[in-house]
Amino acid sequence: MNRPTLTIDAEAVAANWRDLAARHASSGGGATAAAVKADAYGLGAALIAPALAAAGCRHFFVACLEEALALRTALPDRRIAVINGCPSGTERELIANDLRPVLNSLEDCARWRNAAREAGRALPALLHVDTGMARLGLDAAEFARLRETPDLLDGIALDYVMSHLVASETTDAPENAHQAQRFAAIRAAFPGVTTSLANSSGIFFGPDFASDLARPGFALYGGNPTPEQKNPMRPVVTLAAPILQIRAIEAGESVGYNAIWRAERQSLIATIGVGYADGMPRSLANRMTARFKGRDVRLVGRVSMDLMTFDVTDHPDIAPGSMLELIGPGHDIDDVGREAGTNGYEILTGLGRRYRRVAKSV
Ligand SMILES: *Cc1c(COP(=O)(O)O)cnc(C)c1O
Repeated sequence: MNRPTLTIDAEAVAANWRDLAARHASSGGGATAAAVKADAYGLGAALIAPALAAAGCRHFFVACLEEALALRTALPDRRIAVINGCPSGTERELIANDLRPVLNSLEDCARWRNAAREAGRALPALLHVDTGMARLGLDAAEFARLRETPDLLDGIALDYVMSHLVASETTDAPENAHQAQRFAAIRAAFPGVTTSLANSSGIFFGPDFASDLARPGFALYGGNPTPEQKNPMRPVVTLAAPILQIRAIEAGESVGYNAIWRAERQSLIATIGVGYADGMPRSLANRMTARFKGRDVRLVGRVSMDLMTFDVTDHPDIAPGSMLELIGPGHDIDDVGREAGTNGYEILTGLGRRYRRVAKSV
């Protein structure tokens, strides 16, 4: 049983959702959804989504049809929105499974309108208007056309008009205020239609970013939505791996591929069976710290496909079989993201398939 183990606390996800929902409501916002795309950010939607539903979450966002179909099985009676819209050929399955596409262009609108005509009833959907991301959503010209020709939405039961924030984790980014302004103008163009704006970080911006439906993801899973401050969320994942072997090396000897780390003294090197194939990026080389009984243990040398090596010279109580904590409350996904030169989102969604995955029970 002594294997690299990823422990996932679904109850903590539910508690984080309750906190975010309460915060959004106290800013004058309405409901709070959950972004569970990428298999609940890599943690397993089959585990996470029912816990969120039990906490009272009624709206779920996934990226694509495949994710939506899997989620529909787990959540027969919740609203599921598909962020990537309704590519041609997906209409039938969307309708049959009561899934709501996010319409990202006038072409999407036309396709969904045709589907509604064929179905002989109004079909629900969300409408995404771009306010600065330039990825998905109606651009300014398309939005102007829609305002002149509202019947482009005939047969579509608009649930929410939504937009997505560009830089919400950076409080003083000028994009935030610009987007809030543009969104207010868009909202005014759809009187009576409910709106959706904030992601995790946006919820912490208060009333100017409140809407009828917030869409947090990262913060649900313990990521820090306010990176300039202490993380207000509960930790959700811990990742620990047992030491396979400890080796004594002399001063001057190197460790790992390409010999990028060399011992300056007689050293003890501990090896664990986790590598870049498990989602620990190579960019962590010589930068990551793991924890042992609350103390830092430094990663030395390259990350291999299946192995990582740590300098445990100053930790005489570490032995083969001792568990090193790679991710945990004292060293979280944001820390690993920083050490890897990326962010916690990428670390979280990249956690590999080889871990023993354990749902933490309360
Ligand atoms: C992923 C996503 C979210 C959630 O964002 P977080 O930063 O993880 O809270 C919200 N809305 C859309 C459209 C998304 O793609």
